[in-house]
This record gives sequence, C-alpha cells and structure tokens, in this order.
Amino acid sequence: MDTHKIINESYINELLENAKSASREDILNIIEKSRECFGLTFEEAALLLQVEDEELLEKMFEASTYIKEKIYGNRIVIFAPLYTSNECTNNCLYCGFRAENKELHRRTLQLIEVVAEAKTIQDQGHKRILLVCGEDESKTDVEHIVDSVKAIYDNTDIRRINVNASPMKVEDFKQLKNIGIGTYQIFQETYHRETYKIMHPTGSKSDYDWRLTALDRAFEAGIDDLGIGVLLGLYDYKFDVLATLIHSDYLDNKYHVGPHTISIPRLRPAHNSGLKEVPCPVSDDDLRKIVAIYRLAVPYTGIILSTRESAKLRDELLELGVSQISAGSKTNPGGYEEDDNEATQFETSDERSVDEMLQVVTRQGHLPSFCTACYRAKRTGEAFMELAKDAHIHEFCHPNAILTYKEYLIDYASGQTKKEGEALIEIEVNKIIDKKIKEETVKRLERIEKGERDLYF
Ligand code: SAM
Ligand code: SF4
Repeated sequence: MDTHKIINESYINELLENAKSASREDILNIIEKSRECFGLTFEEAALLLQVEDEELLEKMFEASTYIKEKIYGNRIVIFAPLYTSNECTNNCLYCGFRAENKELHRRTLQLIEVVAEAKTIQDQGHKRILLVCGEDESKTDVEHIVDSVKAIYDNTDIRRINVNASPMKVEDFKQLKNIGIGTYQIFQETYHRETYKIMHPTGSKSDYDWRLTALDRAFEAGIDDLGIGVLLGLYDYKFDVLATLIHSDYLDNKYHVGPHTISIPRLRPAHNSGLKEVPCPVSDDDLRKIVAIYRLAVPYTGIILSTRESAKLRDELLELGVSQISAGSKTNPGGYEEDDNEATQFETSDERSVDEMLQVVTRQGHLPSFCTACYRAKRTGEAFMELAKDAHIHEFCHPNAILTYKEYLIDYASGQTKKEGEALIEIEVNKIIDKKIKEETVKRLERIEKGERDLYF
C-alpha cells in the first residue's frame, strides 16, 4: 500500500495555501451549507481552518452547536480511561511513559489489579471504559489486553470496553474482535512525516506507515468501530486536522464506514518529558475552532474530549459539538486505587469527580448517557452509520441515555445530582415524539426504580 497516496503532504499544503485567499462570502456560504449535515469537502474545510475573524468564527460555532443538536440531540456520553501498564519500549518525546524516562515508577497491573481498578471506576457510576497501555511486547502484548478485557467483562458490571493501544497484526486484531471490544482507537499523533520521525526517534512506533495502516488491518479483522485523532501541539494543527479528515474520508470510501470517533487530545506537560516546550502551540481559541470544524466536516462522527482540558474549557466545548467526555480520570496504572504523580502519562487538568461533572452537564441542559447499547445490539460500523445518517439513531440513543442516567441517579448520585437529574429526566421523557417509545421508556423507568438494570432499546 502506498501510504503517500493516503496522506499526500503536498496536496494538503496546497489546499491550505489556496484557502488563504477566500472571501468572507465564501466562508459564510460554506457555513450555511454545512447546516444541511452533508459534511464538507477538503477545500471547504481548508478554508474554514484559515478563518481568524471573530465574527465568522462565531458563525461557525453557531452552526456546529446546531448540527450537534440536530444529530446527537443533547446527549453526552461518559467514560473513564483505565491504564493497565506504563511500561513502554517506545520513546515518544512527549510522553511520560517513554522508555528513556528512567524516573518513572513502572508498573503493569496483574489481572486482579485490573479488575480492582475497573470496580473502582464502576463504583463512580461508569459503564464504559477505555483501556490504555504502554507498548512493551513482553508486558503489554495482545494477550495482556485480551486477558484484561475478559477479566473486566467477567468480573464487573462494565458493559463496554474500548481499547487504545499500539498497531497490531490482523491476527491480533481478530483476538480483540473476538473478545468483544467496543471501539479500537489509535492516534496518528501527527500526519506530518518529518515531525513524526522527530517525535518518535526509536522503537516500533517510529514506523509511520505501520501506524497509519493499523485501521486497515483492524477492518480486515472485522473491527468496524474505530477511533482516530492527532496529538494537537506536535505540528501545525491546520495540516493535522485536514489530514485527519483525509484519513477519515479514505476509510469511509474504502470500507463504507468512516471512523466512529475523532479525539482531540492536546499536548500536556508530562513527567520528565523529552520536549522542552510545545512545538506548535494550539490555543484555546484554536481548539474551539477545531471542534467546530470536525463537527461541520464529519457531522456523524463522535468527538471525544478528555480531562486533558480545563473544567472551564470543557464546559464550553460541550456546547460546541463534543459528544463524549471522560470524567474522574487517572493516567497511571493503579491510579483509581492510589495516586502516584511519578507514574502518570501526563497531567490531567479537569479534576472534577464524575458526580460533579454530571451536575454541570445536567445544569447545561445536556443529558449524560452511560449507554452501551449500540455495540451490544450489533449497531456498529455501516449499520450504525446508516441509522445515524437517517437520524434514526436518535430514536434509540435518547431513551437509552434517559434509562442509563436513571440507573446512575439511583445507584451512585449525590443528593443534589439526583434532584437535578430527575428533573432533567422528566423534561427529556416529554421530548420523546414516538408515542410507543415514550410509553415503553416510562415503563422501563419504573422497572429500573424497582431494581431492574440494563434495559435498553
Ligand atoms: N501506547 C499506545 C500508543 O502510543 O498508541 C496507546 C496509548 S497512549 C498511552 C495514548 C495517547 O496518549 C497517545 O496516542 C498520545 O496521543 C497521548 N499522549 C501521550 N503523551 C501525551 C501528553 N504529554 N499529553 C497529552 N496526550 C498525550
Ligand atoms: Fe509508549 Fe504510547 Fe507513550 Fe509512546 S505514547 S511512549 S508508545 S505509551
């Protein structure tokens, strides 16, 4: 496979260069057109990436809020990362886990410890975990991941486990598929080859092409629920956002399914990092623009926001088109049991607990969702996208969000969150248009009150 054909740097640079001469009217037309939810061409996305004018940015934000609301309603999916290991033979300059960081307290969790962490996460109210680990063939190979996933499914009430791990061979991806993971997520970090080379000097991750083609192998293995992203701050974000859209389009064309999610991690300080400063800083304003452009360009793709960002900015980005957030996160193996700042991958910024986070989300009028129904009901990949594009997905997701939030409110919420959450649920039930679904939701809410769990459409 000629990977230069997937990511053609001259083409991306040319798009960005040509986009500099756009008129105000061009931009306004693109923003207006985006409201139809058909996405953007690369040329159009490039034009929006060059926008600095505040008034035009405001229009972009309005459109992105509108599209988010139209496709996803007011739901925000909640998850937590679980780090099983910080051992790593790679040397990504930006990461606290890099092999050359001799000061890091290294640890790979035993299965019993993985389960203990998952239970602590579950006790915060979570149903969805993102499993994360460093890359060390002798410690964190596919067996380690498969065994961890199986142990969590077998011993906890966690209902969906997504995985963020190194690129694998097709046979290994098949093992992940067979164990029933949700999304397989991998970030290219930067699509710019020269920068990639500098940032990943040694170890298997220095192979750009092996990483770029990971999702092709995952598809070949039958995993059709995939997540992509770049680490913002390594290279010019305009180039990397456009490249992410190009990669997404490549997958969509080839496999008839684009990525399920795009993540927007921004570089954070890491313990004993190999970088003295952020190579290409991305400001808060840039991040707002990035979220809006992804929402306009790939309206049916989820956007994931982690606790790398501050509480204030996260609250704002929720309004702009983000659809999934982590909450109460720890980035060191064993972190939910015990903090160890010398074992973390990077510093988190939003330290609010899940309950505090949910109060904010609820007060904003967003509906927190712990739903994991789609992948369990086999609504993934092409099937999911078809439903999403016809907007039918809303018919399932909205009541499922109500039902799972109800479970949270009964089982885990503080008094205040319960009070505000119940009020929101009442409003949300009344929003259900389909009479039958509404009646069934009310019935199921009563069943949940009586002690039943895991009722989904
Ligand atoms: N080790 C695997 C890999 O590199 O793909 C999987 C997990 S890695 C721990 C998850 C992601 O964390 C990386 O893809 C990278 O984008 C992000 N990351 C690493 N260092 C970071 C930092 N200092 N700030 C923010 N995100 C970081
Ligand atoms: Fe290892 Fe992943 Fe960190 Fe790179 S980003 S050093 S591969 S854990």
